[in-house]
Amino acid sequence: MKVFVTGANRGLGLSLVESGLERGHIIFAAVRSVSDKQIHDLQQLKEKYEGQLRIIHMDVTNEKSVEQAAEAVKLTDQYLDVIINNAAILNERDKTIEELDIHACLQAFDVNTLGPMRVVKHFLPVLRRGLEQKTMTNQAVINISSEAGSLSNAYSGDYPYGMTKVALNMLTEKLKVYLKDDDIDVLSIHPGWMKTDMGGESAPKLPKVTADNIFAVIENGLEDEQRFAFIDDTGTPMDI
Ligand code: NDP
Repeated sequence: MKVFVTGANRGLGLSLVESGLERGHIIFAAVRSVSDKQIHDLQQLKEKYEGQLRIIHMDVTNEKSVEQAAEAVKLTDQYLDVIINNAAILNERDKTIEELDIHACLQAFDVNTLGPMRVVKHFLPVLRRGLEQKTMTNQAVINISSEAGSLSNAYSGDYPYGMTKVALNMLTEKLKVYLKDDDIDVLSIHPGWMKTDMGGESAPKLPKVTADNIFAVIENGLEDEQRFAFIDDTGTPMDI
């Protein structure tokens, strides 16, 4: 499979790259910065898995940059099977409504919700080309969501984060309807509480475990019988 991953330089994104490479897939790793420090781990994977990894510069908040990244993939590799929208920020954590910086809230929407929207807008033609190659049963868009985006899991704090993930889940549902006839599956996946910069040191789960689970879900074929396309990384339905 040819898989495109955003936010690929650290955390879950980096683990998704590693997991995909181990399984023999071709991975396009999109990163906000291509400075040596930022892509050090990816460079090491690139050397280890020769010919399987391409690093692409892309800031999900900059539409021109997303458009150029899609052009770069189109020019050289022609198509994709799976897009994983993983990049996100968790800002204004634990603030009360009175303390919130509204500009920071807008920034969270720009990355977490509009980011995946820009990516799908510009990468859909590349994904549709994959359909013509008939490399796998279904193409897929995977939006990495969060249990913080379940309406039934509302808690005080993390206002922008929870709201951006609820909105991301709606994007998933809308795309699922729009892309049904193309046989492109669309899913929101809650990855679990992971030990990353975002999840913190006390998180119980390693991102590599989640990444392996997500690839297993993709490779085993996505079941379309669920009412909503929101699951966890083991395939269990989440409350919307
Ligand atoms: P991290 O904070 O560890 O990594 C976030 C990634 O997103 C980084 O690669 C970062 O790049 C990238 N990113 C941020 N802004 C942009 C941007 N404008 N353009 C491109 N890339 C950007 O997060 P995690 O790995 O923990 O989280 C991965 C996903 O899992 C997210 O969608 C998150 O919401 C979700 N999630 C995580 C949980 C956890 O416990 N960790 C729990 C539930 C959901 P850079 O290094 O350049 O900043």
